[in-house]
Amino acid sequence: MNSAKEHQKPDVWYGLDLIAAAEAREAVEYALMEAGALGTETNDAPNEGPGWLQVTAYFDATPERERVRAELTEALRIYELPSSAVREMNVREVPNEDWLGEWKKSWQPVELGRLVIAPPWSEVKAARDRVVIRIEPGMAFGTGTHETTRLCLKAIMRFCKGGSFLDVGTGTGILAIAAAKLFPQARVAACDTDADAIEIARENAQLNGVAERIDFRVGSVDESGCEPVTASADFVCANLQADLIGQLLPALIGASCGRLVLSGILDSQVDAIVEQLQGLGNSGNLVMMQDGEWVALVV
Ligand code: SAH
Repeated sequence: MNSAKEHQKPDVWYGLDLIAAAEAREAVEYALMEAGALGTETNDAPNEGPGWLQVTAYFDATPERERVRAELTEALRIYELPSSAVREMNVREVPNEDWLGEWKKSWQPVELGRLVIAPPWSEVKAARDRVVIRIEPGMAFGTGTHETTRLCLKAIMRFCKGGSFLDVGTGTGILAIAAAKLFPQARVAACDTDADAIEIARENAQLNGVAERIDFRVGSVDESGCEPVTASADFVCANLQADLIGQLLPALIGASCGRLVLSGILDSQVDAIVEQLQGLGNSGNLVMMQDGEWVALVV
C-alpha cells in the first residue's frame, strides 16, 4: 500500500478468491498484483486436496474479471503452466480492518548477507555493517522475497564495486536503492516502462534517504530519449523475464561497460539465453547463480 491509499481507508475491500495448483503459486500471485491487487494471501486449500492452494487477492475497487483473466493467462504462459492450474474465481466484499492488519503481519524482514529488506513498519535492530532497505510492499514487483530479486542483490554484493549502476526494470526500486546504500559514491540510474512503478520507486528511495542519488526515468534501455540513463554503466542489472531479456539483450550489452546481471530466467530457459550471448560475442567469464528454479547470469 502506498500512503495515499492507506489514508483513503475504504470501508470495504474486494477479495478475489482463486484455487490454484501449488506450482502455479508464484505465477498467480504475480498476475493478481499485475491486475491491480494491493496484496495477496495464500493458504492451503484443504477441501481441494493436496497440491492445491487458496489464493485471495485484495482490491480497493471491484476487480475487472477480464483484466484478471488476461494477466493470469499471460503469467501461466510465461511460467509454462496449463490454464487448468487455476480454478474458480469468486469476488466477495471484505471489511477493511479484517485483512489489513493480518496482511501487514505477513510481511517479515528478509535478510540477505549485510542487507535487510523490511517494510516501513517493522522494527529492525541496528547492527554494525547492516544495511536496512525499507520497501513499501504490495504496489510493485520487488520486495526482496522473490528469488529473482534476491539473486540480483547477491550479485550486487558479490560483483559490484561502485562506479555507475543501471537498474533496468526497477519495480519498487529495490536494486537501485541497494546499490545507492551499499556504495555511497556510486552514480545510480533506474528505468521502468511502467510510470506507476517509477513513482513507487521514487517514494521508496525517499523512504531510504537516497532519492537525490538515483536518476529515475520512465522508459527502457533500448529507447532513444533515455540516453542519460542508458549511457554505459559499470554495473547493469536487468531482472526481467527471459523473453524480454532475449529482446533487449543487444541493448543491455550496449548499456554495460562492466558487469551485466540478467535475472528472471527459469532454468529451462538458460541455454537459449547463453546461446544468444555467445552469438553476440559474450562467451567468456559467465557466472551462473541459481535459487530454486530461477537462474541469474552474470556476464
Ligand atoms: N528490479 C526489481 C523489479 C523487477 S520486475 C526486482 O529485481 O525485484 C520487472 C520490472 O520491469 C517491472 O516493474 C516492469 O514494469 C519492468 N519492465 C518490463 N518491461 C520493461 C522494459 N522493456 N524496460 C524496462 N522495464 C521493463
